[in-house]
Amino acid sequence: MGWHIPLKYNATLREGEAGISPGPQSVVTEPILDKFKAAVRIVPIMAGAAKQCLGVLMKLKDPTKRDADTQELLYTLHKYFNLKVTDPKYPVIVARLQTVYEQCLKGMMSGYNLYVYSFKATPSAPSGHAYVPGTPKQGSKALGTFFTNNPDMHWPWDQVQKMAYEGSAVGIEKREIHINLDYVQEEETTADILAKTILHEATHKWAGTDDVCYRHNTVSKLLADEDVIKEMVNQGFLERLERTDGKFKVPFAMVSKNNPLQPAKIPAYGLNNFQANSAMWVKNADSYAWAARRFWKNGMNALQKIG
Ligand SMILES: [Zn+2]
Repeated sequence: MGWHIPLKYNATLREGEAGISPGPQSVVTEPILDKFKAAVRIVPIMAGAAKQCLGVLMKLKDPTKRDADTQELLYTLHKYFNLKVTDPKYPVIVARLQTVYEQCLKGMMSGYNLYVYSFKATPSAPSGHAYVPGTPKQGSKALGTFFTNNPDMHWPWDQVQKMAYEGSAVGIEKREIHINLDYVQEEETTADILAKTILHEATHKWAGTDDVCYRHNTVSKLLADEDVIKEMVNQGFLERLERTDGKFKVPFAMVSKNNPLQPAKIPAYGLNNFQANSAMWVKNADSYAWAARRFWKNGMNALQKIG
C-alpha cells in the first residue's frame, strides 16, 4: 500500500507498483497535481461528448444534405474509424462505438485509480506514456465478436466481457490504469492531452480495446511533409487513399515509423493492404481517444446547431 491522493470526479492518484514507483508522494508537485485534476475533470466530458455526437450521427436522416457541422462529425468518424455514412453497417457500428464510450463512462463513475510510475525512456526502450497491465485472454476476440457481421453474435455487453476474460490470469479489477509521471511532466502533455491518454487506457480497461495503431504512426500525421507525400505517391502507396480538394483525406492509415515510405507491417491488416476495415478500427484504443478529443473540441458546436 503506497501513498494515494484523492482527486475529484471519482479518481484517485496512487503510487505505482514496486519497481516502477516514482518515489514518495512529494514527487507529485503542485503543477503535476493540477494537471491531473484538470485531466480527470475533462475525461468524462470528452467521453460524454463522443457519446452525444455519436447519438446525433446515429440519427442522421438525410446524410446527403450536410451542413458544415454535420460534416465535421462525419469527418471525425471517417478519420479515426475509417467509417463512412454509406457503409451498410454504419448504424450498427456507430451504436457500438457509443457502447464503448458508455462503458468507459460507467466505469469511471464507479470510481477508478490512476497509478503513477516512472520509467525514463532510452533509445532501446521507449518509456510508454501509460498502460493497463494484463490482456484479457480473449479481449480482442470478444470485442471483434461484438462487431461481427453475424447478428446472432451481437451479444449484450456483459456477455462480451465474460468472453473476454474467460481463462484469463488477470481479472478486470486488476486492470488498473498506469500513467508515466515523466510523460505527465512534459510541457507538451497538456491537461487535455493527458485526458486523452487516460481515455485511451480507459477503453483498454473497460472495453478490451487493442493497440492496433497509434495516431503518431499514421499517414495522416506524417503527411504533413510534402516530400513524404510526393514520394509515397511515386511509390503508389496513396493510390487507394482519397483526395478532396487536393488534400489527402486519410483515415488513419499506418506507415512504418522508421521508414515512412513503406507501409508498416500490421499483422491484422496483412490481407487488405493496410486499408483497414471498420471492424479492425473499432478495436483500436487510440481511435477512441483521438476521436473523443476531436468530438469534444469541435463537435459540441455542431451538436448545438444541429440540435
Ligand atoms: Zn494502448
